[in-house]
Amino acid sequence: MKYFAGIDLGGTTIKGGIVDRENRIIYSKSIDTVVERGFEAVAEDIAKLVEELLIINNLEMDDIEYVGVGSPGAVDTKSGKIYFSGNLGWENVELGGYLKSRLKKEVYVGNDGACAALGEFLCLEDKNVDSMAMITIGTGVGFGFIFNGHMYDGATYGGGEFGHTTLVFGGEQCTCGQKGCIEAYASFTALIRDATRFASDNPKSCIAQIVSQNGKINGKDIFEAAKKGCPDAQMLTERFIEYIGAGIVNIINMLDPQVIVIGGGISRSSDYFLPKVIKYASENVFCRQAKLSEIRVAARGNEAGIIGAARLGDYIK
Ligand SMILES: [Zn+2]
Repeated sequence: MKYFAGIDLGGTTIKGGIVDRENRIIYSKSIDTVVERGFEAVAEDIAKLVEELLIINNLEMDDIEYVGVGSPGAVDTKSGKIYFSGNLGWENVELGGYLKSRLKKEVYVGNDGACAALGEFLCLEDKNVDSMAMITIGTGVGFGFIFNGHMYDGATYGGGEFGHTTLVFGGEQCTCGQKGCIEAYASFTALIRDATRFASDNPKSCIAQIVSQNGKINGKDIFEAAKKGCPDAQMLTERFIEYIGAGIVNIINMLDPQVIVIGGGISRSSDYFLPKVIKYASENVFCRQAKLSEIRVAARGNEAGIIGAARLGDYIK
């Protein structure tokens, strides 16, 4: 069996792909999740997407080793049960069990951030790396950790929720119900909240001008304005980068991985933010005498989630 099927399940889209043993995507396709329809309808769409990927590529179910799915939330990688996913609104659903009986195939389900980390890890050119952390800066803050060459997700699969560790005690409200989580400061949702607040408090600022021109503001607008010299956008992005830097310092102080990968939309502005993040980390880690973890941006973009999911069965503990 030469191939694997990988599914990257998100709140907006479901991305599926056929992946070969060299971790290359030979074909991929996306469909809308439409999560409001409930668990069974979404699970059935995933099964149909797998079947479609096989048909389009003239493959039989026997041509793939197994199906892997990366899902938001806390996932029991042994059974494929999703304990909780805020993004999907699911609690205690048997996604692995449903797909196994529907497709009559081995199915593995893991956390999406962990799958993206695995996908990036498998594509690293340096094969001597065996510890790698990845943070994904998007609507939220995703995380995955590779330890001893395997995906690490904790004793009861609740690990890896780095985005919901506390950055500011009693700080900004987070979507998880707690206050002050890293996600409430270092996500694009947080950056947009801060920029919108700033515009409302400073109606003559360049940020307020962008908001009044476009009706709203997004992360790309803020970074573009900062690059063009808008001092307010620079202040907001500098602080945003420091939040990310503080998160990375926490990761290094706790885990000291060989490589830290930053993924998500921010990786497109790497020339602007990456040197600042590296400078912040090098000045603030506990052990400034040792070599700093290599901090780099994601190389595989949206593909990493599909690749990691597709190879999940070989890299879970
Ligand atoms: Zn949180």
